[in-house]
Amino acid sequence: MSDNDGSASIVLAGQSTIAEWQEDFYRTVHRHPELGHQEVKTAAAVAAALRRFGFEVQEKIGSTGVIGILQNGDGPVVLMRADMDALPVEEATGLPYASADRATDGDGNDVPVMHACGHDAHVACLLGAARLLSEKPAAWHGTYIALFQPAEELADGAEVMLKGGLATMIPRPDVALAQHMLPIPAGRVGTRAGTFLSSGDSMRVTVSGRGSHGSMPQLSVDPVVLASTIVVRLQGIVAREITPGEFAVLTVGRIAGGSKSNIISDHAVLELNIRTFSETTRTTIVKAIHRIVEGECATSGSPMRPRFELYDHYPVTENDPDATARVADAFARYFDDRAFTIDRQSASEDFSEIPNTLGVPYTYWGVGCIDADLYAKAEAAGSVSTDIPSNHSPNFAPALEPTLQTGTAAAVVAALAWLGDNY
Ligand code: ZN
Ligand code: ZN
Repeated sequence: MSDNDGSASIVLAGQSTIAEWQEDFYRTVHRHPELGHQEVKTAAAVAAALRRFGFEVQEKIGSTGVIGILQNGDGPVVLMRADMDALPVEEATGLPYASADRATDGDGNDVPVMHACGHDAHVACLLGAARLLSEKPAAWHGTYIALFQPAEELADGAEVMLKGGLATMIPRPDVALAQHMLPIPAGRVGTRAGTFLSSGDSMRVTVSGRGSHGSMPQLSVDPVVLASTIVVRLQGIVAREITPGEFAVLTVGRIAGGSKSNIISDHAVLELNIRTFSETTRTTIVKAIHRIVEGECATSGSPMRPRFELYDHYPVTENDPDATARVADAFARYFDDRAFTIDRQSASEDFSEIPNTLGVPYTYWGVGCIDADLYAKAEAAGSVSTDIPSNHSPNFAPALEPTLQTGTAAAVVAALAWLGDNY
């Protein structure tokens, strides 16, 4: 056992004593989720806890961002980030601490709210790591920065914290860390060097028609028919224009047109989602969408050029090889065969905007959160895809333990790979 493992075992010896507090904290955040940029109660609870642990705290960065800094002598600076926001999903888990809360979204709609992506667990784990490190200052040295970010799901939470002056509020980190709950067995942690998460983009396409009475189609250009042909043609991009084996997803997530059965509308809207692991593939897809939409509009005799709006952009998450090797090595020693090399994921994240803007290396890993027995049964039955609810599902229900313990240990072990006595 190296000195660094010694630091980890000293700091993590406190896990059992914080478990009750941490699980309570998690259940409270889960029961009262908040949408992006509205994480007011969550942020206040986080800030209060960090102050109790002796961190220097700054709040309301960007919108609801919080940072806590714990200086503990000379040494490296480690930043770890957790996202705090929930989703407009109606919880169907039936858990005793399920959310029944509702909120007003950015468009003014009344919506149900649920922590359906595990950000409540990210918050509880980072706070747990912060507490454990604060309780055992003799076991490490350096500076620990706990960063709680708003609005990951809206793709601009990292950006607003950066615009809110984050870079001037913290010492420059030597490394930035983050983790995410994934629908794999609880207790496991997966790292990957290089490309880990895809880029993500949303695109809104508005096509024009000529409105008319439903009984007089000869007087119209029907935008519903036009939009329908576009949806079908778009399916050919990934199938026919992208190199086989190259990862790409193009989903039409929303199609809207018309108001009533006997009215031909004058426009239709398509909302698309694009995921790739490379900028070249992303550009190919965006260009192909433009070509197809413009072509179909011309074919239909659409009276106006189509309108394209790109929004909710997420960059590719590209883990630094050296930082990842350091964390993977520390995980292998602490977690043994519960640590593994994880496949690339088609999900996306805005976390990397923070280290990229600060000009520092980063690594981002996955933490399992599904009850291991439940997962094993589904795997044996070949029914993982139908029986294991994924992130964003109304049935997404992380097993409280060992998920929180594992995520907290991962946060501590990774930080100590820089701050532990071995380095
Ligand atoms: Zn999510
Ligand atoms: Zn998420």
